[in-house]
Amino acid sequence: MVRNGGVERTLRTLRDAGVYVTYDEYRARAPIVRASGVIPLRPRAFDNPFLSHYYKAKSSGTTGRPVVVNIDLHHLADQATYDLLTRHAHGVVGVPEALWRGTLPDGSGIGTILRGARIGNVPRKWFSPIGATGDRRAAFKHRFVTQFVVLMGRVCGVPIPWPETVPLDRAAVVAQWVAGMLKAHGSCLVRAHVSMALRICLAARQAGFNLTGATFLGGGEPPTPGKVLQIIETGARWIPWYVFSEVGRVGMGCARPVDGNDLHFRKDGLALIQYPRPVLGSRIVNAFYFTTLLPTAPKVLLNVESDDYGVIEQRSCGCLLEQYGFTDHLRQVRSFRKLTGEGVTLVGSDMERILDEVLPARFGGSPLDYQFLEEEDADGFTRLTLAVSPKVQIADEAAVVEVVLRALGGDNVRSLLEQAKTLRVKRMEPISSSRGKILPLHLLSRFEASDKDTTDGDA
Ligand SMILES: [Zn+2]
Repeated sequence: MVRNGGVERTLRTLRDAGVYVTYDEYRARAPIVRASGVIPLRPRAFDNPFLSHYYKAKSSGTTGRPVVVNIDLHHLADQATYDLLTRHAHGVVGVPEALWRGTLPDGSGIGTILRGARIGNVPRKWFSPIGATGDRRAAFKHRFVTQFVVLMGRVCGVPIPWPETVPLDRAAVVAQWVAGMLKAHGSCLVRAHVSMALRICLAARQAGFNLTGATFLGGGEPPTPGKVLQIIETGARWIPWYVFSEVGRVGMGCARPVDGNDLHFRKDGLALIQYPRPVLGSRIVNAFYFTTLLPTAPKVLLNVESDDYGVIEQRSCGCLLEQYGFTDHLRQVRSFRKLTGEGVTLVGSDMERILDEVLPARFGGSPLDYQFLEEEDADGFTRLTLAVSPKVQIADEAAVVEVVLRALGGDNVRSLLEQAKTLRVKRMEPISSSRGKILPLHLLSRFEASDKDTTDGDA
């Protein structure tokens, strides 16, 4: 079929015939049921069985049971290629680099370090929001493995920096480093999630630094226009990534973008099709289905639904990534079931459980009295607001936040949300859809406006 019709057409034919995996099936929350057949799934069912040299990382702060991903060193070597091509396209090969990324079990920090070593530009500084020291420190085995990797790198003559704990409210430390590099070298690159990059920029502005010459590169949450604008207003540049740990890079920021999240799809390592899917009631989105093509991929995926959707387009931008052969662009990528803020994710079904069960049991009222809202505040940070109907009697709003955070589990998620003070309570009636439904997660209309590819089933 591939020989006759190509990869994407084959995958679409398979999808039509029922050969696909939903997001919940992939996460082993439900067995695969097609016609009369039932395939039960273990959590690690999609692990690539052919990996030989790997470490285990946990995907960024999903609630309940995180996805464990085996990161093979050959996979990192493959991925490093895209790091180098992206730097080349943006003219930042070899500039001084730093990262503000966690230590293990968050695999993004050590992965960035090792790929940097592979392309001959090891980051000079490793700032970590959750780290080796302080009261929010990682478990002993994770600290041990992190330090072992750093030490072995140094023994082999690679100057890997020791992670330095910098909590989210101390972005000024990173801003200071950026200002120092700009003074000494005229340019630098910082790897951080977009809201963390924004924190650095706000700290820099407060200190009176101009960040012209600095480049921020990151993924992990949608780089919304509000956030990107605040970053580039400091004089810095923003390069988006689209990454998830199970497959590595999905998209690399275009060097001649039409907006703040214009990506070149990594079509040599992944195949991607779209398929319509109802979400949260009546909306239909064109969900992304991924298929891995490289033998080093952490997971073996065939038409696996991610909970993202967006626009796939072929457009000639004229940047170097296009010349390298990455001719497909991805734009307006949004998650339809996750809330993302501060680079961590809250999965829909967990939210629903909290709204439907945990909160009414503790504070009274019904599931209709609670709703999550995702919105951006004046500084461009994504805020998670919990709308609580004024009808519910609550003496202490902080207690509500505490109950939600406790129900989320997952230490890293909670720690980041707490530090970021991301979750707020607002006394208001939950917002209902045009059909009178109250959805567990309401995305404020700013997001809806950019979702041009979607159709509203209500219409
Ligand atoms: Zn481009």
